[in-house]
Amino acid sequence: MGEKSLIELIRRRVRGGSAVVAGIGDDCAVLRVPAAHDLLVTTDFTLENVHFRREWHPPEVVGWRCLTRGLSDIAAMGGKPRAAFLSLALERGVPQKWVDRFVAGLLEAADEFRVPLAGGDTAQSAGGIQADVVVVGSVPKGKAVLRSGARPGDQIYVTGELGGSAAAIARLREGKVRAADYERHFHPRARVEAGQWLRRRGLASAMIDVSDGLSTDLEHICEESGVGAVVEAGAIPRARVGHPTKEVALDLALHGGEDYELLFTSSQKIPAKVAGVPVTRIGRIARRRGMVLVLEDGRRRRLVARGWEHFKGNW
Ligand code: ADP
Ligand code: MG
Repeated sequence: MGEKSLIELIRRRVRGGSAVVAGIGDDCAVLRVPAAHDLLVTTDFTLENVHFRREWHPPEVVGWRCLTRGLSDIAAMGGKPRAAFLSLALERGVPQKWVDRFVAGLLEAADEFRVPLAGGDTAQSAGGIQADVVVVGSVPKGKAVLRSGARPGDQIYVTGELGGSAAAIARLREGKVRAADYERHFHPRARVEAGQWLRRRGLASAMIDVSDGLSTDLEHICEESGVGAVVEAGAIPRARVGHPTKEVALDLALHGGEDYELLFTSSQKIPAKVAGVPVTRIGRIARRRGMVLVLEDGRRRRLVARGWEHFKGNW
């Protein structure tokens, strides 16, 4: 299939959206966001053998997860996603069926979150499959929830459960897994509603999505805010995965990435559920820099960021 017919295929399947004045088919997309809003823009690579493997991940899953990465970043700012862009590079010989199913997965997420695919680029790669997704969102002027707002005394909260995605990778290394037993890996849902809910009420002082792992993402908040953190190991909501389901190891919940939950700090009372998603308090922000893990028996350990970092050879 040539570039033109691939774009046609995508174009035929895309739905419009209120922010898109002109979408696929012109030199640029024309977007219109509400007056008195700030624009949010995020871009994320999804690279074969770095973020997915063709033998592990069905094409629909790759497409869905690709867009989820961007939606999750918008969620972490408390924003509303308005439009998405897909730049796709395919090596020669990628089956048409793979591309069809990839696009179907991506557009399923786009439909579910009502984010129109408004453009992109298509090219032949020198090897493998690479996708870059840009998501544009918006938030009322000055209201984006930053990483830098955490203050000593704030409590630390996380949505959902952690470690479920990393547990799937660990199992995939050993053999086949049933996607249904590892929902958070194969079908993660960006916490867009929860992020907006928190932002509207001014409840989150700082927020980030858990894409690299709790330890690494919490360190980002600490560094940007100039504070430290005390985390209670026993409070961390660990994912239940597999068949029959089993709670993941603490290490996976602490350092495993790609759960796309929201990690945020607050000086106010947070309900046990936000936009239908459970929220758990896992610790507090401290004046003293550095991160501390309080074990269930009360012993204290330094908490070192050991989540995903590129160029460090995690795989
Ligand atoms: P240009 O030469 O200006 O880059 P293209 O031929 O690459 O134009 O793209 C034509 C139209 O198709 C543009 O509107 C572009 O945004 C859209 N497009 C190209 N590739 C993709 C893709 N992978 N996904 C969505 N839209 C795409
Ligand atoms: Mg182009």
